[in-house]
Amino acid sequence: MPEISDSQLYKNLKEYFGYSEFRQQQKEIITAIFKGNDNLVIMPTGGGKSICYQLPATLLNGLTLVISPLIALMKDQVDGLRANGIGAAFINSSQAAEDQHAIFNAILTNEIKLLYVAPESLSQLEGILNQTTLSLIAIDEAHCISAWGHDFRPAYTQLGFLKNRFPHTPIIALTATADKATREDISKQLNLNHPTLHLSSFDRPNLSLSVRPGIDRVKKILEFVDDHPNDSGIIYCLSRKTTENLAEKLDSAGFKAKAYHAGLGHHVREQVQNEFINDQLQIVCATVAFGMGIDKSNVRWVIHYNLPKNIEGYYQEIGRAGRDGVPSETILFHSYADVVQLQQFATKSGNTEVQLAKLDRMQQYADALSCRRKVLLSYFGELPEKDCGNCDVCKHPPTFFDGTILAQKALSTIARVKQNEPLATIIDILRGAQNATILDKGFTQISTYGIGNDVSWKHWQQYIIQLINQGAIEIAFHEKNHLKLTPIAKKILFEKQTVNLAKIIEKAALKTAAKKEISVKKSTDLFERLRLLRLKLSREEEIPAYQIFSDASLKEMEQARPMTDDEFIQISGVGKKKMQDYGHDFISEIIAFHKEKNTSKKAKKEPTYITSANLFKNGLSIADIVLERKIAETTILSHLCKAYEMDKSIALEKLIDPVDLKAIEKAKTALENPNALRPYFEYFKEEMPYSTIRIGLAILSN
Ligand code: ADP
Ligand code: ZN
Repeated sequence: MPEISDSQLYKNLKEYFGYSEFRQQQKEIITAIFKGNDNLVIMPTGGGKSICYQLPATLLNGLTLVISPLIALMKDQVDGLRANGIGAAFINSSQAAEDQHAIFNAILTNEIKLLYVAPESLSQLEGILNQTTLSLIAIDEAHCISAWGHDFRPAYTQLGFLKNRFPHTPIIALTATADKATREDISKQLNLNHPTLHLSSFDRPNLSLSVRPGIDRVKKILEFVDDHPNDSGIIYCLSRKTTENLAEKLDSAGFKAKAYHAGLGHHVREQVQNEFINDQLQIVCATVAFGMGIDKSNVRWVIHYNLPKNIEGYYQEIGRAGRDGVPSETILFHSYADVVQLQQFATKSGNTEVQLAKLDRMQQYADALSCRRKVLLSYFGELPEKDCGNCDVCKHPPTFFDGTILAQKALSTIARVKQNEPLATIIDILRGAQNATILDKGFTQISTYGIGNDVSWKHWQQYIIQLINQGAIEIAFHEKNHLKLTPIAKKILFEKQTVNLAKIIEKAALKTAAKKEISVKKSTDLFERLRLLRLKLSREEEIPAYQIFSDASLKEMEQARPMTDDEFIQISGVGKKKMQDYGHDFISEIIAFHKEKNTSKKAKKEPTYITSANLFKNGLSIADIVLERKIAETTILSHLCKAYEMDKSIALEKLIDPVDLKAIEKAKTALENPNALRPYFEYFKEEMPYSTIRIGLAILSN
C-alpha cells in the first residue's frame, strides 16, 4: 500500500467529491485502508460509507472492486462517480460482450478506477482480474452474507475466496446492520484478517421523529403533503392493498404518487423507482420491498402508515430520508389494530418469541413519553446523555394530571361488562351511546352508563390506550380484543392507587405548531430556482437530480450566494468536475436572482413620492411624470411637495408663478386657520387651484 499524506486525502476529497471535511470515522477508515488493514465498517444509512472506498480508489494505482447486491444501486453509484469525474463502470449478466470488452480495455488503460459487480457475476471477471492489479476490495451491504441478517443473499456466502486469492489486497466490508451476530458472521465468512472494526454512532440528528395516533391518517397525510409541495417522500404500508389505495387517493388529490410492492411486475417497479429517483414522481406508497436499491439523497420525509414489525426495519426505513444531512421529517402512525395484526403475523411465524419481543420494543417506542431518539439509540446500544430536541416528545413534552377518577370510571365499566367487551363498546357505555349493541345488550342499565359523557370519544380512546400502556388494562387479542383488567387495575379500583394521565394535546394546537416549523423551513425562492435549474439539467443529461448537487449543496448556495468561480468552489459538494460542468449555470442563476431581488427591493424600499421626485429631478415635466407613472397630476404634485418638505433639493419654485406665491404669503398672515388648504381656496374665491396653494405653502413653510 502506498503512503498517503493527509493533504493528499483532503485534496482528492475536495477535487472529486467537493467536500472539505470528513465525516465522523471516514478519515480513520481510509487511513486504516492505506495501512493495508482489513476493515469492517458499521455505519447507519446515509452515514457516508461510499467515500470510504471511493476516495482511496482515486489514490490507488490499481483497480478497486466493489461487490454490491443490486443493479439499480450499482448504476446509481457509477453515475454519481462519473459525474464527479471518476472513471467507473459496472458489470452485469445482461451486458453485451462488446460492452464488457470496452470496460475491460478501459481498466487496462487505467481509465476505470472502480468496478462494480454483483456477487453472482463475479465469474465474468476471471480474465480481467488476472491481468490487472487489484488494489482494494469493497463489499457493500455486507450483512447480505449472513443468514442472521434480514437480507440474506446466498451468492454472498461464496465471497470468502477473495481473501484467499488476493491475500495482500485489503478488504473493506460495509453495512448498516449493527447486531453482533451478523458482524461476526461477516468477518468469519469473508476470511477477514484481524479486521479493524469501525462502529459509528447510529444517531441521525437531522431526522425529526414523531408518532401520531392512527385515526384519520389519510386526512393527516393529505394535509402533510399539501404542506410539502416539492418534497420527495416515501409512505410505508403493511399491505399491498393499502399502498394502492393510498396512492390512488393522493393521485386524485393532485399529487404525483404511485404504489410499489412485490406483486407488481418487474418493469412497473423499475419504472416507479426510476421516476422517483429522477424527481418525476413525488411520492411512493410502498411495502418494505422498496428502498434498498435507492441512494436518492434528497428524500425529505418518510411516513409509516402502519406500525413496523421491529425497530431495525423502522430505523432503516426512516434512514432513507435526509441522507444529504438536510433536516427531514418522519412520522409514524400508531394504531392498535396494527398491533393486533402484527401479533397475529408473529404468532404464525417460525420465530414467534423473538418476533413478539421485537414488536414489543417497537410498541414501546411508539408509546414513549420521553425522548424517542433515546429509546431508538438505546436499542442499538447507545446511551445519549441529552434529550434530542428533535422528536415530538421533546418538542411537546406531555403534561400530566391526576386521572384516577377517569381511570376508575373506565376500569369499573370493564368490570361491569365482565371483561367481555372491546374498547369501542366500553367507550360507548361511558359516553351513554344509544346504538344497537348497547341497546341489545341492555348496557343502558349499567351504573356507569353515561358517566363519562363529558369526555369526547377520541379522548377516551387515548386515555384507555394510556391505561393499557401503564399496564392497568390488557387487550385479549385471542378473544375478540376484549379488554381485561390486570392486578394494577384492581389496585386502582380498590386500593386507592392513583393514576397520572398525559394531557391530550388538541390536534389544532399541534398543527399550528407544526405549521410554524414548516414556514420557518420553507425554501426561499432562490432555493426553488436552483432546484428547478437542477431538475432541468438532470432531464437534459438523464441523470438523477441529486447527483448534480445534493439538497445540502443547494441550501448552501442559497445561503452563501456564490457569484464567482472562486466562491462557487467553496460550496460543499462542488468538486472540480462539477465546477466545470455546472458552475456557470448555477452562478448565472444566482446572479440573475440577486439582480432581480435588488431591483425589486429598491422599488419596494423607495417611497412612491421619492420616485416622482427623482423623475422630476431628472428633468421630466409634470405631464411626463403623469404619463410615466400613470398617477393623477394632483398626486404627483403632492409627491413633489412632500419631497421638498423632506429635503430642499427639488426646484419647486419652477412650478409656481412668483405672483401667486406672494398672494399665498399674504393670505397666510390674514387667515384664521392658515394650516388647512380649504380656507386658502375660499380666500382666493376658488380661482387658485389646490395644487398651486399646496406648492406655495410647501415653499413658504421653509
Ligand atoms: P451510505 O452509503 O452510508 O448510506 P452515502 O455514502 O450514500 O451513505 O452518503 C450519504 C450522503 O452523504 C451522500 O449524499 C454523500 O455525498 C454525503 N457525504 C458523504 N461524506 C460526506 C462528507 N465528508 N461531507 C459532506 N457530505 C458527505
Ligand atoms: Zn427527543
